[in-house]
Amino acid sequence: MTGLLRRLATRSRDQSHPAQECELCGEPLPATHRHLLELPKRELRCACRACQVLFDHAAAGGGHYRLVPERRRRLSGLSLDEETWAGLRTPVRTVFVIHDSGTGLPVQYYPSPAGAVQASVDLTAWERLLRDNPALQELEPDVEALLADRDRGAWIVPVDDCYALVGAVRTRWRGLTGGPDVRQHITRFFTDLDDRCSPVTDRSTT
Ligand SMILES: [Zn+2]
Ligand SMILES: [Zn+2]
Repeated sequence: MTGLLRRLATRSRDQSHPAQECELCGEPLPATHRHLLELPKRELRCACRACQVLFDHAAAGGGHYRLVPERRRRLSGLSLDEETWAGLRTPVRTVFVIHDSGTGLPVQYYPSPAGAVQASVDLTAWERLLRDNPALQELEPDVEALLADRDRGAWIVPVDDCYALVGAVRTRWRGLTGGPDVRQHITRFFTDLDDRCSPVTDRSTT
């Protein structure tokens, strides 16, 4: 994990973290700010408004910074049946899938007490998921993720959300089963996510 991902991962979203600086120009940053993804290293950088505009714009000319979007959408009609879920071969109940523009392939990550674990995605299952859920075809490569929780549903989220969740699991996990604190925090994460989402219904039949 890179320096910033580690910091994101150790910082919980409900704590207001101390003021910090734009990692591109050094200007002071508010606690709530956006991030640029630096390719191909795939590192996130905390960015001030001016740098967001400047570097994201430069990316259009072949630069390598991508602005992490802010949109969060609940995929209320996501079709994710047992067979498809089993096909993804995710060993836990919460996973996020990112389309890697470098390889052209989807990659899954899931939270663990040791941080994010990366695994490949079964392409047949992924293609079936894309076919059944057209909203997923709009996933912005590298900077957006399909976040799926077997018990709670599915969302399209910015990647920094995923790392916030990973960080919460990593830092709050206790013992073999995680304990009440981490479970409470995960529940709050999903409630909070829903509050900030606009709904998308892919299919009328679910
Ligand atoms: Zn800046
Ligand atoms: Zn930041």
